[in-house]
Amino acid sequence: MPGPKKKLYIRTFGCQMNVADSERMAQVLADDFVLTDKAEEADIYLINTCAIRRKSEEKVRSLLGSLKGLKQRRPQLILGVGGCVAQQEGDRLLGAAPHLDLVFGAHGIYRLPQLVSRAAAGERPVDVELSRCFPEAPRRRWESPPARTFVTIMQGCNNFCSFCVVPYVRGREYSREPSDIIGEIGEFLAAGGQEVTLLGQNVNSYGRGLMEPVTFPELLRRVAALPGLRRLRFATSHPRDLSPDLIAAYGELPALCEHLHLPVQSGSNRILQAMNRGYTREEYLDKAARLRQTRPDLALSTDLIVGFPGETEADFEQTLDLMRQAGFDQAFSFKYSPRPQTQAAAFSGQVPDEIKAERLSRLQTFQDDLTLKAHRRLVGKVREALVEGGSKRSPVELCGRLRTNQVVNFQGPQDLVGRLLMVEITEAHPHSLKGRRAVGPPLS
Ligand code: SF4
Repeated sequence: MPGPKKKLYIRTFGCQMNVADSERMAQVLADDFVLTDKAEEADIYLINTCAIRRKSEEKVRSLLGSLKGLKQRRPQLILGVGGCVAQQEGDRLLGAAPHLDLVFGAHGIYRLPQLVSRAAAGERPVDVELSRCFPEAPRRRWESPPARTFVTIMQGCNNFCSFCVVPYVRGREYSREPSDIIGEIGEFLAAGGQEVTLLGQNVNSYGRGLMEPVTFPELLRRVAALPGLRRLRFATSHPRDLSPDLIAAYGELPALCEHLHLPVQSGSNRILQAMNRGYTREEYLDKAARLRQTRPDLALSTDLIVGFPGETEADFEQTLDLMRQAGFDQAFSFKYSPRPQTQAAAFSGQVPDEIKAERLSRLQTFQDDLTLKAHRRLVGKVREALVEGGSKRSPVELCGRLRTNQVVNFQGPQDLVGRLLMVEITEAHPHSLKGRRAVGPPLS
């Protein structure tokens, strides 16, 4: 009889791609390890890192330092670092942290069982090799699937935006075979799953280099046709590659949620050019308008960088103006942070930190106002919500997500988690909504 499984703890930093990668780590180790949420009892502790900003990298280094004590108390513990910082730093991490046992990059995830065995035997393996195709992964198991899942459809990026480290740490762009994607989603839906988010650094360029060329809108249509799918989302989109066919898909596919995350980064054409983004503010606004003509209730969210090298007050004002014209429902905004290997790190005209901080604060206040206005427009409306879990604020409240991606808190029993139901929006707050369950049984 096999003994009880050992325990695996994963600390995840960064974006949804990293969340999906952490799920993959748990899955490839599932024969021998079961996930725990208690770091103190772990046999393996993996840190899945993000290198997109210097601050996220600093957090990882500080966490790694603080784990020295745990490793001393549990010498058998295998401590590993994966993800983008691991890819970027490789064996330098082993030199900087003598208590670290294992370093693995974006594609090393799939070789974790062998890497863990080598670490258990006393080696300190480093695997930061990037394959030249989409790595093969074992099938996910869906004994009791969550209501929503993330499915990686491509890896890497060829765009080389001048501020971004992703092409260096995740490698060139590789698409996953459509049959593999459809198979994974079909199994998730057959087991009772309802919502799928397709993930990639730039999903709009999906399909290049596949044996059977399939465009991203074609993939969406194939996924949307699968029985049982209630909601379909995707992230992240590059505005330059947002094709008329993809805009048309918003008019055709009822399962495709009325939300698009379309990172604009700046509203100044001069800065967009220096960022190597490949579109102008006019082109971005034109695409946003065409999307809203096709799907009038579409919610639009974005990413914004302030203080990119050379950004003047006039450039920054252009960004505020674009935000107003686009009417973003939500924005994730950050101070520009120079990253190793990227072109922009060497640009002249680096903006002092106090100016970046002041602009970021103004921009966030501006967006909070736009978001609150969008939330107020929802008050009194009845909307479909997928119940994701208990609310963080109150033990008697549930937390649901609207098709337009806003979060709504409302009272209800825990057995509604994972169900789709109608909620009447009663209050608008800057970061969430409050509601009450509308009369009628759950939709699923
Ligand atoms: S599109 Fe640009 S910002 Fe997005 S991952 Fe690729 S290089 Fe980075």
